[in-house]
Amino acid sequence: MTLLSIRNLEVHYGDLIGVADVSLDVAEGEVVALLGSNGAGKTTTLNAVAGLIPASGGSITFAGERIDGKPAYAVVSRRIGLSPEGWRLFVGQSVENNLMLGATPLADRSRAAPLLERVYAIFPRLAERRLQLAGTMSGGERQMLAVGRALMSDPRLLMLDEPSLGLAPATVEIMYETLERLHGEGLTILLAEQSVELALEFADRAYVLQVGRTVMSGTASDLADDPEVQKVYLGMG
Ligand code: ATP
Repeated sequence: MTLLSIRNLEVHYGDLIGVADVSLDVAEGEVVALLGSNGAGKTTTLNAVAGLIPASGGSITFAGERIDGKPAYAVVSRRIGLSPEGWRLFVGQSVENNLMLGATPLADRSRAAPLLERVYAIFPRLAERRLQLAGTMSGGERQMLAVGRALMSDPRLLMLDEPSLGLAPATVEIMYETLERLHGEGLTILLAEQSVELALEFADRAYVLQVGRTVMSGTASDLADDPEVQKVYLGMG
């Protein structure tokens, strides 16, 4: 079943074009990666799905319902979680408060406590540091916190913007092992990832964006074997 479907998405920043024509599908249970160089439109696409910026054209459908035009809280309450670029944490608040804020859009607030325990089981580092201020956490810990906060909305679709950016290799490994585990439990994932190698290892399928347009798509293994992808994105050939 198709969970997320984007058709001919267009996003403008004033007179500037953020995304010109992006179309993609994510099936339930799939891991889909968005690839492309800086400025290709990956962040803009994820933020538009999350309702953080308005679409100026095209459509975004989630679980059969149009969600473009809905505000961010309405999108989260439909169980789409985003771990955003730059994390957007409340740096003066504790780890636990940041996590609990992720549960705010839940219709049934009694679910927050078990979700919190689940996030702590997934990221024991966050449990150890539950009272620490988010602003004093390391980059890797902040990334875990941003993903943990997205999980607090009990997402059916987890969107991750550059989950490996700026992290030490050992932390990247922990992050991806964790994401593999969540995928194994049935979670659907859409991620933007600078590291094409990493993305194609983890994803089932991927879309390549170029100046705001989807220009290529396929299974991760087909794309990894594609000479164009190898030359432009994998530094081979
Ligand atoms: P990166 O990996 O560098 O974040 P990206 O693929 O995520 O790149 P976007 O950040 O979505 O790309 O940017 C797509 C286009 O939209 C770029 O041309 C960018 O300059 C523009 N853009 C993004 N945010 C804004 C903004 N707030 N105001 C104006 N233009 C913007």
